[in-house]
Amino acid sequence: MTDTSASWLGKARGYHTDHPLVYQVLKRFLLCGLVLIVVTTALQVWAEYRREQHSLQTRLSLIASSQLDGIAKSVWNLDKEQVNLQLQGIMNFPDIQAVTLDSADWPEKLQFGTLPAKAAASNQFAIVYHTLQREPRQLGILTVFHDVAAVHTRLIESALWSFLVQSLMILATSVVLFGIVHFNITRHLERMAQFTRQISKSHLRQPLTLQKRARQRSSNELDQVVEAINEMRLAILRDIERRESEQQELRYSRDQLQEQVEQRTRNLLEAKENAEAASQAKTKFLATMSHEIRTPLNGILGMVQLLGRTELSAEQQERLNTIYQSGDALLEILNGLLDYARLEEGAYIPENQLFSLHELVRTSCHLFSAGALEKGLDLQFDIDPAVTDVCQSAPGALRQMLANMISNAIKFTQQGFVHVTLTRSRTGPDQQWVRFAVSDSGIGIEQNDLARIFERFSQADDSITRRFGGTGLGLAITEKLVHSLGGEIGVTSQPACGSTFWFELPLSTPPELAQYPALTQASHPARLDGLQILLVEDTPVNQEVTMALLSQDGHQVELAQTGSQALLAASERKFDVILLDVHLPDISGVDVARHITSQSGLNTNTPVIALTANIQPGLIQKYHAAGMVAIEPKPLKIGRLYKVINQVIAKAEILPETEPPDTAAALIDFAVFQSHSTILGPARVTNLIHTLQRSCDKILPRIEQAMQRGDHYDIAEQAHRLAGDAESLGASQLAHQLRALEDLARQGLEEALTSQRGRDLAQYSRASLAELTRLTAALNAPT
Ligand code: ADP
Repeated sequence: MTDTSASWLGKARGYHTDHPLVYQVLKRFLLCGLVLIVVTTALQVWAEYRREQHSLQTRLSLIASSQLDGIAKSVWNLDKEQVNLQLQGIMNFPDIQAVTLDSADWPEKLQFGTLPAKAAASNQFAIVYHTLQREPRQLGILTVFHDVAAVHTRLIESALWSFLVQSLMILATSVVLFGIVHFNITRHLERMAQFTRQISKSHLRQPLTLQKRARQRSSNELDQVVEAINEMRLAILRDIERRESEQQELRYSRDQLQEQVEQRTRNLLEAKENAEAASQAKTKFLATMSHEIRTPLNGILGMVQLLGRTELSAEQQERLNTIYQSGDALLEILNGLLDYARLEEGAYIPENQLFSLHELVRTSCHLFSAGALEKGLDLQFDIDPAVTDVCQSAPGALRQMLANMISNAIKFTQQGFVHVTLTRSRTGPDQQWVRFAVSDSGIGIEQNDLARIFERFSQADDSITRRFGGTGLGLAITEKLVHSLGGEIGVTSQPACGSTFWFELPLSTPPELAQYPALTQASHPARLDGLQILLVEDTPVNQEVTMALLSQDGHQVELAQTGSQALLAASERKFDVILLDVHLPDISGVDVARHITSQSGLNTNTPVIALTANIQPGLIQKYHAAGMVAIEPKPLKIGRLYKVINQVIAKAEILPETEPPDTAAALIDFAVFQSHSTILGPARVTNLIHTLQRSCDKILPRIEQAMQRGDHYDIAEQAHRLAGDAESLGASQLAHQLRALEDLARQGLEEALTSQRGRDLAQYSRASLAELTRLTAALNAPT
């Protein structure tokens, strides 16, 4: 078998699957044809059979009419020859197989032809001789045997021929029909099917056309279907184009939106960076100013302390004390100013401690008595007996506010008086509202100017600067401080008659501490003898003061003026303690401390105490991380310094029995916290804890909301903010968790969104705050 014939066969076999419609039509047509052929052939055979029967009857009648009388006569005449001829004559009729004659007059039976083996169809005729004289007489029986087989053969042949011819006709018709169906219907339907399949693959540009010959151009049902398909194609095309344009618009809007969001994010980031840069610049300015002003002040106070140890007359000692107190007051004002700046920055925390209100007012007035005396003014103060002496608030801020108002009153009054009065305006549980009023008989202020004198850098009119100087900052600071302490401020004034500046503050009056005994008592620090001290200090005045103070007490002090000198000294000699200024000209104090405490050497275990004028809470943790064990704020107070040295050398905690258990150590960085307590005092630390509490209350829910929204950016920002607060207070475990969350959120990871993290944070914050509160109470419990 050749390849061509094999493939043709394959095609033929697969035809019914490839062209099922034509196949079905043909199959049914052929089936019907076959039934038709069978029926028509049967009918034809039946008709033939009837015709054969009829011709047999005709033949028999012919034999009866033409032969019987002749045979009877021949038999009567005993003319055998004639009878044979006559019987032969019957045999000549068609389909006669045999003929026999039985006669009593004849001895033997006459027979022509071959008798059939089986009983076959035969007809018998009586041979009767009719005479005129006598009765008709039967001479014998003539039997004619028909050739049935021949008839049957003829009938079968006829049927076969008919079947064959009809079959051929049906076959020929089916071929023609196949051609017609295939060329006029199926191939078009197949083309339509193929086209529709292509439509589903989005091949929509080409219209559907049928391959028709020229004379088939007339329209029919197929053309209508084609038309409908093409209309459908166009509708789909329009729909797709519409959707594409909609998508395009959507994409465009999305891109626009994305661009806007990115632009806004960039702007916000820029604004945030600018704000951060501004805030950093401000912080830097504060730090620098703090350092620059404190350094000379440090020198003044140190020298006064040194001078105080020499032989002096009582009057000289008195004057020296006044210088020292003025310096101290100046330091307080400086602290207040720094606090104000921090207040603007959002980082100001007013102190909260016990103090004597009466003494505060007395010393404040005393401070200005010399100035008042010089101008011949009557400076007096009057305190309502109802005002409780021992209060809890921010004495530094209060002193600063009073000082501002008293100094203004003296400045703007040429003659007459300046009166300070304290009255109790309201009372509450453990609280009193005190009204502070400073009245003068000075120049007064125009009504129009009253509103703006509390604004920053504002004065009543331009002539004021020329006549009295000033910056216009004092009242602004005072107002800020009053508001930060929850109070109110105001002024009443008459030009040329005088003014009354007043403020009202809520001051706590703890009942059990109404008689506060240690309020003005000086501390008596422990003395240490013969210590080897390395002093790292770059400012000559500070060097001189600190060295003199320490040497006078019998200590051996080696001076290092730079970081590298300090490192050299520390590598050559063992010291009992290192006092390290944080601001050094070459290597920073933080790096020096880190180097000494982390490298193995003579002084690896020597306690390093930081000396700094910049005691912002955020920096304390940094100093501890560098290995400094304690921080001593400048200007140095020798008593306080000895106390700290005593503590660090004895390697004892302030209160050993309050040393936190191991679990708390993991939760809180105790060293950092202890420094806060020492430097800032318990009241401010309590305030810091409250601030952290407020931050947690505000930020943790925001983090959870951002987690639900899947907003990684916000999570990172909020976690960053809270981590800074937690770190600066020593809540190290909470800070660690927040930093980890910030990292995950910055990387955009799913893990940053798990609600378990939110719950963990809430738990850590609760535990940390509880522990911080417990430690504060323990550290400040009376021993
Ligand atoms: P400064 O005193 O440095 O100018 P302040 O903020 O303390 O700044 O005061 C702002 C302005 O308020 C002063 O310049 C002055 O015009 C007015 N002022 C303040 N106190 C008095 C007073 N006791 N009598 C008259 N005017 C006053």
